[in-house]
Amino acid sequence: MDRRQPIAGGRPIGARWVPVPPRDVVDRTIGVVGAFLPQRCLRSPVTSRDWRADRAFVFDRDAFTCRHCGTVGEDEPTSLRSYPVGDISLEGDVHESALVTVCCACFTVLEPSPSTETVAGGDLFDFVRDTTRVQGGTISDVADFASVATSLPDSLESAVDDETDVDLDASVAKYRRARRDVVLALDLVDARLERLAASETAVDSDVRPALAAFSETAAQLQRTLREVVASSETVATGLDRCHGCFASLERSEDETCPNCGLVVHQTVDWEHDDGTVAFDRLFATINETLQGASQTTETLTDRTMTLAEQLVDT
Ligand SMILES: [Zn+2]
Ligand SMILES: [Zn+2]
Repeated sequence: MDRRQPIAGGRPIGARWVPVPPRDVVDRTIGVVGAFLPQRCLRSPVTSRDWRADRAFVFDRDAFTCRHCGTVGEDEPTSLRSYPVGDISLEGDVHESALVTVCCACFTVLEPSPSTETVAGGDLFDFVRDTTRVQGGTISDVADFASVATSLPDSLESAVDDETDVDLDASVAKYRRARRDVVLALDLVDARLERLAASETAVDSDVRPALAAFSETAAQLQRTLREVVASSETVATGLDRCHGCFASLERSEDETCPNCGLVVHQTVDWEHDDGTVAFDRLFATINETLQGASQTTETLTDRTMTLAEQLVDT
């Protein structure tokens, strides 16, 4: 079972990221980053700390390329940022496996902004359409991640049979990369939906119900997709590996990964009587949840159309 406590926006509580301003650095693209913290960050029980220690490694690993939009940059701070994805430990450095390279434009979308700009008028339809496009791409990312995760038991088994870790290392790298990409993509959609929610009151009252219906369905799709991600991560846990960094670990109550500090998922819902993990059942659930996501997508398409028609009318 996923132990994270989702909040309304779908993001986990407890490890909310607080942006740290780069010291004495003014970014020409987006100004002074994180110069002040939004209220909700001040309220959250989070310490800010230096996750930037590993950034050179992270940029190099990601080939200096934004993992969301593919923009190639040179270095921080002019064109690239490192961004922490998923749950992160509350203390210490953020492990490299939880950091991802993003360009300044994508970083700006993700940054918890104290002055969330509203979207209105003619921009609203473009914003909704782009949000649907980004979320559509996220569904493919989630499906890819699920497929990588569900192939892990076989990869581990053949590594044992062949007595070589070469293929396994490649599978693990693929898993970690796919997981970062998918969580980043989900975070970006959440950020867009938050901005849309903030815009609701600025929208013509005739259009508001259609916008609310769209937002509600998009949020439901987000929840379903995060469920698929959590179940796919549980495959790693079932193999006695950390679902974030993939270090070996013991499955037990309330354990955190000694390598990266993530709280280990519980597998109790997926265990046979003898304590081994019922991967078949876990895989079937992942598939069913993914199918549910594609049904929600159909509803979302309808609601996007309705909203588009109303925006054209007003
Ligand atoms: Zn980007
Ligand atoms: Zn770990």
